[in-house]
Amino acid sequence: MKLFAVIGDPIVHSKSPRMHNNALQVLMKNAVYTRYHLKDNAKLKEIVNFFNGVNITIPFKEEAFKIADFKDKSVVDIGCANTLLNKNNKIYAYNTDYLGFLKAIDNFCNIKNALILGAGGTARALAFALKIKNIQVTISNRSSNRLKHLSDYECCLYSNLNLHKKFDLVINTTSAGLHDTDLPCNEIILKNIFSNARYAFDVIYGKNTPFLNLAKKYNLKTKDGLDMLLWQGVFAFELFLDCKKTKEIFKAMEIALKLP
Ligand code: NDP
Repeated sequence: MKLFAVIGDPIVHSKSPRMHNNALQVLMKNAVYTRYHLKDNAKLKEIVNFFNGVNITIPFKEEAFKIADFKDKSVVDIGCANTLLNKNNKIYAYNTDYLGFLKAIDNFCNIKNALILGAGGTARALAFALKIKNIQVTISNRSSNRLKHLSDYECCLYSNLNLHKKFDLVINTTSAGLHDTDLPCNEIILKNIFSNARYAFDVIYGKNTPFLNLAKKYNLKTKDGLDMLLWQGVFAFELFLDCKKTKEIFKAMEIALKLP
């Protein structure tokens, strides 16, 4: 039997076990998917070696990059991995967050440029996804430290954002919004940006974030991170089991997510 897991801190709320286990059952795979609460960066490699494959979530995606023996091109570019395969005692690293995001925005039309709020691992994955679609990317953050590592993109602090620039798509990759009242940046900045934009995307899922609520007031088409979560899971499953039954995997994971 094969063994898979999602590793993170915290991990108790992760939806990945229910998504993957339902797909494993529906596709009759001899495997099980669990979760592992890791507290110490230094132990990641030791724990990964125990599984056939793992998904990596906050805060270990950069460490996952570091421990890999082989890195997919996307992983090299993004600098983070969310999917690791353990084959012949070697660790292979992939990033399915960016693929999941591209699927999630599949029906967004005619996007020429995008503004990403936040500069963490998710922002880097999404910037890479947009770059390969030839979409011009600007990344903005509340502090400068993380922006220093994003030299491939136009970057600025929120305080230096050009409020007259037109962005077709505005994306929140920060954790602001997990709390019911928080916006990623000053409301006046967002109101200016939204008044010229067409789409808003929030990586947070399962709740109406203040960011998306404000975007709706400006008649933007909005989307939360649920489809991204689903699709990153589908692509990870395909890698884990070398299984290309994409539609069946998606359906099984979607059903699992809707369960109470
Ligand atoms: P990181 O910790 O790498 O980066 C967090 C970013 O958010 C930083 O730029 C940080 O700014 C900023 N930030 C954090 N809190 C606030 C706040 N209160 N106000 C403004 N900015 C803030 O996190 P990740 O990029 O890995 O993950 C970000 C989010 O994406 C998480 O909520 C995660 O759950 C979600 N996610 C969703 C996925 C999906 O499938 N839907 C997949 C992957 C992630 P600073 O640099 O100043 O600290």
